[in-house]
Amino acid sequence: MEKVKEKKLTIRKIILLWGFFIILSPIIGCILQLVFSTVCYAGASVMSLWDEDVKQDMQSIEWNIFNKDEIKVVESKKISMYKGVMVFRIPGNRAGSFLGIFLTDYERKATPNSISAVHHEYGHNIQQLLIGPINYLLYIGLPSWRQWSERSYYDRPWEVTAESFGGVRTRQHEADALKRGNNYLLTTLFGRTIIILISTG
Ligand SMILES: [Zn+2]
Repeated sequence: MEKVKEKKLTIRKIILLWGFFIILSPIIGCILQLVFSTVCYAGASVMSLWDEDVKQDMQSIEWNIFNKDEIKVVESKKISMYKGVMVFRIPGNRAGSFLGIFLTDYERKATPNSISAVHHEYGHNIQQLLIGPINYLLYIGLPSWRQWSERSYYDRPWEVTAESFGGVRTRQHEADALKRGNNYLLTTLFGRTIIILISTG
């Protein structure tokens, strides 16, 4: 009797944990994004007091946190904002995103490719809002960084929804690739981590 009761309790705990994880992931994702963007915007305001580049970058988007002009984003010297997300410059040759958009020197001029890079990285930010930071780092950031797939880069399951959410116009994707991407995101939200936790615990 005791054992049955105990088992029931554990199952209930697992279900609760699972539910919390699914509900909390996007909530934490949204809160984190809000806090990060606000802190960065405040930081940019302070920096603009002595940094002329930052001041000009922010003036060019009229200090609009929801700026939608991609050309102004790619032509920025140090920072910018795009649809509520802070844009930074990083060294190297691969743009990236986590709570912000990180562009390289390759995205300094307004070309179809550089504008697609802004759209694509912004799409990754939307993914983070939907699945939360832990899922994002584990199942989008990691495979993207380690390039775990034989498929063409932007058709990979963790990349293709960044394309659709960000509204990339220079690349087309097969319906199959999009379907795979949507399923990948849903499976991630509804339990990849929790299944791994249960099977290892
Ligand atoms: Zn990507």
